[in-house]
Amino acid sequence: MKMIYRKNTKDNQKNSDIQIGIMGGVFDPIHIGHLFTAEEARVKFHLDKVIFVPCLNPTHKRNDHVTAVKHRLEMSYLATDSNSFFEVSKIEINRSGPSYTIDTIKEFRNIYGWDAKFFFITGVDAFLEIETWYKKDELLNICQFVAATRPGYDLNKLHQKFKKVLQIMEIPLLAISSTDIRYRIRNNLSIKYIVLEEVRDYIYQHQLYLRKKVISNIRKQSG
Ligand code: NAP
Repeated sequence: MKMIYRKNTKDNQKNSDIQIGIMGGVFDPIHIGHLFTAEEARVKFHLDKVIFVPCLNPTHKRNDHVTAVKHRLEMSYLATDSNSFFEVSKIEINRSGPSYTIDTIKEFRNIYGWDAKFFFITGVDAFLEIETWYKKDELLNICQFVAATRPGYDLNKLHQKFKKVLQIMEIPLLAISSTDIRYRIRNNLSIKYIVLEEVRDYIYQHQLYLRKKVISNIRKQSG
């Protein structure tokens, strides 16, 4: 396997003008829709960098099975390695307990300084649940939100008051979803071109998302 340089966030980088995208998600697995979303946000909002933050414990998914964080983290490193503006942070992994976004932004603010501007980037469906997020009023005061969605999404679902604090980005590639990728693997369908080669190799090498009996079939058609 290719050796990669771990671009962890640096903790000594203070800059009053810096604009940072925080790409929050479960990334189970990370796919080209996520990567394109991050790159689009970087260019559109003139971000100095985008930091991918795989969450440790998704607060709203306690009953769902989420893949071990070591795998989700490793796939995040592999997927982001080729973009010098992308980094991966273990900030939520190193913090025990639920992955509250407010705690994450505050930690980043301590690292980068209070003048740094943060853009929290995530899927619009995640944002639609914002009323239930921990300390959401404080959160909305200390960072901007960028919500990514596929074209044609009904934005009327979004309450008027959030339209003021939220930037929407239409990303055609978000027709791809992690759920669909997991389904494809379970059902012996190809995931070539919808995740990076390195991520696909990692998934097969570690037999993620597979029912054991289809592993050998998938290997045959994955080349
Ligand atoms: P989710 O329910 O897994 O995802 C909702 C939708 O958004 C899915 O279609 C998902 O597609 C998409 N999505 C998720 N992250 C994305 C991203 N970075 N870029 C583009 N699309 C994305 O939501 P989640 O991922 O668990 O939560 C998203 C973020 O919000 C996480 O960082 C989480 O910690 C945070 N959050 C915080 C709180 C809180 O502080 N209380 C509560 C909820 C969520 P894929 O399945 O393809 O990714």
